[in-house]
Amino acid sequence: MKKFHTVIVGGGPGGLACATLLAQQGKEVLVLERNSVIGPKVCAGGIPAAGLGLGFPEALWERSFASQHISSNWQQTVIQDAKPIIRTVDRGRLGRWMAERAVAAGVSIATSSLVRKITQDRVISKAGEEFGFCFLVGADGSSSLVRRHLGIPTAEMGIGINYQMPGNFSEMQWHLNPDLFGNGYAWIFPHQGTASIGVYARRSASRPGLLLNSLHHWAAGHGHELKSRQPQAALINADFRGWRFDNYFLIGDAAGLASGLTGEGIYSAIISGEEAARTILDARYESERMAQIIKKHRQHARILELTSGGKLSGKLVLEALVFCLRIGLIPFNALEMGVDQPS
Ligand SMILES: Cc1cc2nc3c(=O)[nH]c(=O)nc-3n(C[C@H](O)[C@H](O)[C@H](O)COP(=O)(O)OP(=O)(O)OC[C@H]3O[C@@H](n4cnc5c(N)ncnc54)[C@H](O)[C@@H]3O)c2cc1C
Repeated sequence: MKKFHTVIVGGGPGGLACATLLAQQGKEVLVLERNSVIGPKVCAGGIPAAGLGLGFPEALWERSFASQHISSNWQQTVIQDAKPIIRTVDRGRLGRWMAERAVAAGVSIATSSLVRKITQDRVISKAGEEFGFCFLVGADGSSSLVRRHLGIPTAEMGIGINYQMPGNFSEMQWHLNPDLFGNGYAWIFPHQGTASIGVYARRSASRPGLLLNSLHHWAAGHGHELKSRQPQAALINADFRGWRFDNYFLIGDAAGLASGLTGEGIYSAIISGEEAARTILDARYESERMAQIIKKHRQHARILELTSGGKLSGKLVLEALVFCLRIGLIPFNALEMGVDQPS
């Protein structure tokens, strides 16, 4: 059995960010990814303004938007800033770039390697291969095996449904429509030559089939015929219950660090991956950025709770939220997971 300093289960943005930082400090790191290709993932690809600090090359950004078009039952507003508020990325391209950077730093990446079993000091793949570790990082997404191995339950998940529509789209749009999506929302996030059109909602609020019908109905009303196309859907874990467990770490969706309010999770996956690596390298490291991410996550959970009340009160809170965004009482970045960059 080959032994590594750190084994990371999952080659998404969180796992690759963690692996790169560890390898750059000379640690022997293995990333095990069940898919045959790193990158592609059901996702709208929106990254908050703070994502500019993630160091992606300029060419990786698909589109940038300084204005956000928000509509609810009673209001329509455009939030305008001098600089881009959200940029989009293609998950396939992002994954390829992150994997190349990881390999250049010395990370070993094994694709088509589904981890089936975890013991105290090793992981075992579906093919029966065993890999020993000093540290194990669960970067294996919303239905994380590492999380289950640690005995951490998940009470609530979000669900996201996405269509990638060909065409040239000019506006980034958010549509709050409680009658169709509860306290979730539908979106249009433009990319180059396509747009992600989709919906996010809490799984307990709507059955997937109903949510899909609601999305079709809403999109048809906005001139987008989705029914004949192939949807993709995935769960989004926002049930955060900790990230450090002795020599085990959970990051990104595996830790439940996606926003329960918006479903956004790429940025927090990358930050938590980097901060887990720093903590592995120095057990006394106090992660200010994790403290900020967790604070934001709790704020989003509180807003979500407020919008989850009875039908009418939930609607009123959503309208109040849009109004506060409109008059600038709540800045748009309060709805994003972005935090300060380390000095
Ligand atoms: C429809 C939809 C739209 C979204 N839109 C956005 C958006 O616009 N912006 C945003 O920030 N977030 C968005 N998200 C959320 C975002 O996709 C996730 O938060 C993000 O991908 C989390 O990154 P991660 O590295 O934690 O996990 P993931 O990206 O899920 O990566 C986990 C990896 O682990 C692998 N894996 C899982 N189990 C095993 C195993 N047992 N063995 C080996 N490998 C395993 C998986 O194959 C996967 O590659 C969206 C999600 C959905 C569903």
